[in-house]
Amino acid sequence: MKIIFLGAPGAGKGTQAEIVAERLSIPTISTGAIIREAVKAETAMGTAAKQFMDAGALVPDDVVIGIINERLSQKDCEGGFILDGFPRTVPQAEALDKMGVEIDVVLSLEVADEAIVERMSGRRVCDKCGASFHVKYKPAKDGEHCDKCGAVLSMRRDDAPEVVQSRLAIYHSTTEPLKEYYGNKGILKTVDGQEEVSDTTALTLAALGV
Ligand code: AMP
Repeated sequence: MKIIFLGAPGAGKGTQAEIVAERLSIPTISTGAIIREAVKAETAMGTAAKQFMDAGALVPDDVVIGIINERLSQKDCEGGFILDGFPRTVPQAEALDKMGVEIDVVLSLEVADEAIVERMSGRRVCDKCGASFHVKYKPAKDGEHCDKCGAVLSMRRDDAPEVVQSRLAIYHSTTEPLKEYYGNKGILKTVDGQEEVSDTTALTLAALGV
């Protein structure tokens, strides 16, 4: 199955994508995670992308389209995949269509802006393996270290409150129109992402029919 998770930053796309990916044995492709890796490794792409990312702005379409084009051509994507954080603009969605990728379902996780701001302030990530936690909703076992690899957890620079506000504004102006784009194709499903993680997972799996 080929799935897209849409939703505001912090809506829980990554968390749900991870659960569904394991259930369906397909990879999750997160453009944000790929870009963060490139920033850490100081590649040319990472260095160019860092300024956009730190400011809460979108990385230019041609860069992320290139990332996705290359990633989807890898063998593990043959049996399906989940896209988490791509597409984020209509031109990105059109590029996916032009690549001949036929998406089965687009899940839009719906969470109010106020809840997003609260969630982002408590989000903690592992710099080493990228695992994501939340001080209140998904705490790490000892509160400070990654449950998976033991590295120290930190806040993402782009989760700072003022950056979150601009990321939300970009979501509403630039990414949200994708709901209409995929609604017109008849493949959009909306899921309430406001409750507990397990509630959202149940709704997500039901929407996928798995
Ligand atoms: P995320 O981890 O999905 O919240 O992405 C973090 C940041 O990476 C975003 O705020 C953007 O700067 C960049 N990014 C990730 N995916 C995309 C995309 N599809 N288009 C443009 N920029 C992106």
